Amino acid sequence: MTIRSVGIIGAGFAGLSTAKVLRAFGFEVTVFEKELDVGGVWAASRRYPGLTTQNPRTTYALSDFPMPAHYPEWPSGQQVQAYLHAYAEHFGLIPHLRMSTTVESAVLDEEAGVWTVKARRAVAGLPAEVHRFDHLVVCNGIFSEPAVPQYPGADAFEAAGGRVCHTSQFNDAGEARGKHVLVVGYGKSSCDVANAIAADSASTTVLARQLIWKIPKKFMNVLNFKYLLLTRMGEALFKYIEPKGFEKFLHGAGLPVRNSMLGSVESVVTRQLKLREIGLHPGTPLETIARSTVSLVTDGFYEKVAAGQLGVRKGVSIRALQPGQAVLSNGETVPADLVVCGTGWQQQVPFFDASVLQRVTDARGNFRLYRSILPVGMPRLAFNGYNSSFFSQLNCEIGALWLANHLRGGLQLPPVGEMNAQIDRRLAWMEERTDGKHSKGTNIIPFSVHNIDELLQDMGLPLGALTRFKQWLGPVDPADYAVVTRQLLARHAHTPADASLAAQAA
Ligand SMILES: Cc1cc2nc3c(=O)[nH]c(=O)nc-3n(C[C@H](O)[C@H](O)[C@H](O)COP(=O)(O)OP(=O)(O)OC[C@H]3O[C@@H](n4cnc5c(N)ncnc54)[C@H](O)[C@@H]3O)c2cc1C
Repeated sequence: MTIRSVGIIGAGFAGLSTAKVLRAFGFEVTVFEKELDVGGVWAASRRYPGLTTQNPRTTYALSDFPMPAHYPEWPSGQQVQAYLHAYAEHFGLIPHLRMSTTVESAVLDEEAGVWTVKARRAVAGLPAEVHRFDHLVVCNGIFSEPAVPQYPGADAFEAAGGRVCHTSQFNDAGEARGKHVLVVGYGKSSCDVANAIAADSASTTVLARQLIWKIPKKFMNVLNFKYLLLTRMGEALFKYIEPKGFEKFLHGAGLPVRNSMLGSVESVVTRQLKLREIGLHPGTPLETIARSTVSLVTDGFYEKVAAGQLGVRKGVSIRALQPGQAVLSNGETVPADLVVCGTGWQQQVPFFDASVLQRVTDARGNFRLYRSILPVGMPRLAFNGYNSSFFSQLNCEIGALWLANHLRGGLQLPPVGEMNAQIDRRLAWMEERTDGKHSKGTNIIPFSVHNIDELLQDMGLPLGALTRFKQWLGPVDPADYAVVTRQLLARHAHTPADASLAAQAA
């Protein structure tokens, strides 16, 4: 049995880069996307007002397709979507996309080695489509399924004209005009939304259960944060599960140096954002930024707080909703017409039945994936994009290359017991390091470059020493990784696309 056809669920960065890479390695691909347009997080239906990337433009591109030079330093959501559409066109992916088509179920016949995928187009009356594949790659995103709290009284609140929605479902700033708006959460999307609507709403209040650190786009209004955080040096400030070389020093004898570097940044951020003056100092060490997410400052947010144009309530959440108002956890009642929740995401794979779920997740719902890609012991299945990071797009792309190499028989995987032990170790480490906030094992922040290094190491294609050195001092440039595709293609030039897959399928 050989593997020729691959079904891919999702057309965001992960799905599109997987499709492009697998096609280059000779596989037939079909990509299912439930939205009208490609882009996932950046699709029109999911963009809130004011959405931009956190990454500067040059660090958020795929290796062989730079973002247009006329894009601003922090491109808008619409620009990223246009970039991804152009990527799909440029690499001939459009004929392989099944848009507005939701995968409803995916079932593997292990004996025959065939996945049967049932998918439904968003056209009333059409029967479900049935497709068969030799392999499946799940690229459904870890920021794809909104988690919105079930507030007591929400039905009566909405019946009286109120609305409760997730930031990703709040697509029109005009909806807030003249309304009392509560924005729940203090992450980047909550602050972006609050900032975008504050001027036109009757009132905008952010409810922050916990304050977190926000990183200015430019330190002291001069130095782009990419020179600090999006470098190997920036990543090395946080202790990896297996520190090596200079990192060992930084977290050993050099710890005082490392602490004083982080301490200096903390002081600069505190002063620059006037966090003590406006009462928004998180009261935790800056080091906590790297737990599970890093949130950039929204342009104008702190200024609006200082000017009283928007409020931030600390340690408060919504206890219940009533027509036209919300009861807060401290018993206070405040006017509310619209509640926008930046309350995170759920990590689900609803198209799998319980037997598959049992094989890919643990009892707590954590995904058990070797190198964040392979479910050990479940054949013909892979995940991509389950290594969300500071350079998610690059982690997806290198993940796709790792997978292509594996499907071509080019990877020497460790024995199953060793892979399982490594997964266990990593999940335990993530749990401890992030206080349980690792999106079910799918969030590797801030260890983006480490993940890429490991994937390249497995493939026997590590970056050159000069490039690595450059990355210690300057931001990672995705273009430096374009060589990996060329090297891998050259290596497999004489391997028929399906020759080695028999072994994988066995
Ligand atoms: C507001 C926001 C800002 C961000 N900014 C950055 C940034 O600056 N830098 C960075 O590195 N990362 C950033 N991220 C992380 C971001 O998630 C990744 O960079 C990247 O876009 C994820 O791509 P993906 O393909 O893995 O997932 P997604 O973009 O979520 O794509 C998954 C796709 O799968 C589709 N899908 C899901 N289920 C099905 C189904 N059953 N059938 C068919 N289709 C399905 C979805 O519709 C979606 O289009 C940001 C995330 C958010 C939410």
